[in-house]
Amino acid sequence: MEQYTMPTKIFFGKAAIDILASLTFKKYYIICDPFMQKSHKVDTITEILKEKSATYEIFADVVPDPTIDVVTKGLEGIINFEPDAVIALGGGSAIDTAKAITNIYAKTVENKPPKLIAIPTTSGTGSEVTSFAVISDPTTKAKYPIIDNSLLPDLAILDAQFTLSVPASVTADTGMDVLTHTLEAYVSTNASDFTDACGEKAMRLVWDNLDKTVKNGSDETAREKMHNASCLAGIAFNGASLGICHSLAHAFGGQFHIPHGRANAMLLPHVIAYNAGLNEATEYCALARYEQAANLLGLKNGTPKATVHSLISRIKRMTKQFSIPQTINEYGIDPTEFIEAVPIMAEKALADNCTVTNPRQPALAD
Ligand code: NAD
Repeated sequence: MEQYTMPTKIFFGKAAIDILASLTFKKYYIICDPFMQKSHKVDTITEILKEKSATYEIFADVVPDPTIDVVTKGLEGIINFEPDAVIALGGGSAIDTAKAITNIYAKTVENKPPKLIAIPTTSGTGSEVTSFAVISDPTTKAKYPIIDNSLLPDLAILDAQFTLSVPASVTADTGMDVLTHTLEAYVSTNASDFTDACGEKAMRLVWDNLDKTVKNGSDETAREKMHNASCLAGIAFNGASLGICHSLAHAFGGQFHIPHGRANAMLLPHVIAYNAGLNEATEYCALARYEQAANLLGLKNGTPKATVHSLISRIKRMTKQFSIPQTINEYGIDPTEFIEAVPIMAEKALADNCTVTNPRQPALAD
């Protein structure tokens, strides 16, 4: 027997943010990064809160790839403020920070713990509907995916107006993260009809809209579709979990401080080839799943291997078009430094939670 649950209430579409006005909480702790304050995006939220005479405090110290220190600092703030709701406004970094802070704080309060409201401003991580939070330790250069159902936000507000200002390079990186989520969830050993339903829809939405949002960030329709795709992909991988593209991206991204979606985009073609055994005599079960995904995206090309080759070529073409580096040289990483870090990164990737559901179990040598 299996179970599929999605307890987060999702509000989406134009003016979805207006739902905030109807919430009855009195004290809001807003967690975001400094850009959300400087760009006045947070004002959209605080205006609504002021209008209903709610009080709020802003913690705007979130950094990309949030660290243990940031979580600790935010925790001090929440303990002093004692809110009845937390608002996470930002990309995966802000939402993951808020999840960690709220979760730890909830364990210390005797009465009702605060509710968590996630408002994503990138279309990428799907963190607003996942039980994952990725926290980094700069001293070990490690990124730790923490997984627990208690991390799931109570409410997710998908209002694409917040994504219109995302620069093209971040749009591309985060969009490739969505595509990676759909494909990893699809070939995961935990995939089910339920996770496939969300993953397949998300995959097609990315295929049809990512390019549009990178070329024209003001395309509101495409932005909305990508925002929905990001959330649907989050629902898919929350049920199915992920695979070694993410394990490797955590290790590689943590070591060289590479934006998460970019690290995934660079690794994805290699992971597909490895999982499907494309360049080997043995055929792995993931080959058929990648073929199915490629067929869904209209890439049918004769044999299963030829079809999966087409999928890889298309992904490479996309990343090239988006000016995402294809190799460590193109990224500007020193090759000697990279080679020295390989054993450390391989060990971290092998121990990463996401490796468990990869369709092909790798050895350290792989
Ligand atoms: P991010 O949150 O780090 O943001 C990237 C950059 O974009 C930041 O500089 C931010 O200020 C900027 N930005 C965000 N919204 C913007 C907007 N509307 N306009 C202009 N600039 C904007 O990036 P991300 O890719 O969303 O999140 C990455 C983090 O999420 C990583 O730590 C990754 O490991 C984690 N992650 C979490 C999950 C999960 O399920 N919890 C899944 C995948 C990744």
